Amino acid sequence: MEVTLLEATDDPEDLVCKAARNDYSDEFVGGQSLEATMETVEGDSLEAKKETLIGHLLEHGHFGPFEHPQITFAVEGVSRSCMAQITRHRHVSFDVQSMRYVSFDEVDPDDVRAGEMVVVPPSATDPDWVGRNQKGDADEDDIERREEIFRDTVADAVESYQELLDLGMPPEDARFVLPIGTKVNMVMSMNVRMLMHVADMRAAADAQWEIRTMTEELLDIAADWCPITFDHYEREMKNRKNRLAP
Ligand SMILES: Cc1cc2nc3c(=O)[nH]c(=O)nc-3n(C[C@H](O)[C@H](O)[C@H](O)COP(=O)(O)OP(=O)(O)OC[C@H]3O[C@@H](n4cnc5c(N)ncnc54)[C@H](O)[C@@H]3O)c2cc1C
Repeated sequence: MEVTLLEATDDPEDLVCKAARNDYSDEFVGGQSLEATMETVEGDSLEAKKETLIGHLLEHGHFGPFEHPQITFAVEGVSRSCMAQITRHRHVSFDVQSMRYVSFDEVDPDDVRAGEMVVVPPSATDPDWVGRNQKGDADEDDIERREEIFRDTVADAVESYQELLDLGMPPEDARFVLPIGTKVNMVMSMNVRMLMHVADMRAAADAQWEIRTMTEELLDIAADWCPITFDHYEREMKNRKNRLAP
């Protein structure tokens, strides 16, 4: 998979601070410089004041100000299974590559066997892989057989799909024979609060390896975009127990 940054709010943490200070200020923050808005916050520099305020907001669960900055990611090549998981988050906006209007009629089934078009889970090929919900130990022969079954099945499915297209079946119906591991591209947008919530649920140990990998990539990008917030998140909040609310 590949995750890239498409767009993001400029100076997101200045925006969080302005929004939060608005709540406790008798001045109109719209007419002030950030320096003036942050004047009474503890810290020797503007950067230190931002750290104080953002740390305070996160520690006290004052998450509203984190809803203002928005980020948009482009994600390439995750499975439709991973897509189904991430699209359950109702405060994230999505555009998902269509299988009604995009048909995979040019893909060579032999390339599918080699990993194109369908995500190959590590448990199909890696004898040392330890995943959740794994039943018993598998020896090298088992893994070899798993890989053979997996690769043959997905290549056969794509071959059948293409045959159905050749027989005039519309892509939107022929796709029914494709595996849930079929790769998809997405564009998704969310605010900082939601990104932390997604990470609470999807970077957690009980989430599946693929969505965990994707979420870690989102967090890497977010760490450059909102460094104070996501540094605090990584240190103090990630993997916390309470995941009932954002
Ligand atoms: C490890 C794991 C396993 C899962 N397994 C399954 C499964 O087997 N089957 C399945 O169906 N789902 C499963 N899910 C999905 C899960 O149940 C949620 O639907 C999904 O993670 C969306 O998260 P969310 O409920 O926090 O809602 P989001 O859409 O992310 O919303 C964020 C928050 O907003 C609030 N909120 C949003 N909408 C409402 C609303 N209508 N009413 C009240 N509050 C609201 C809630 O506080 C919510 O936490 C699984 C998730 C994980 C992480």
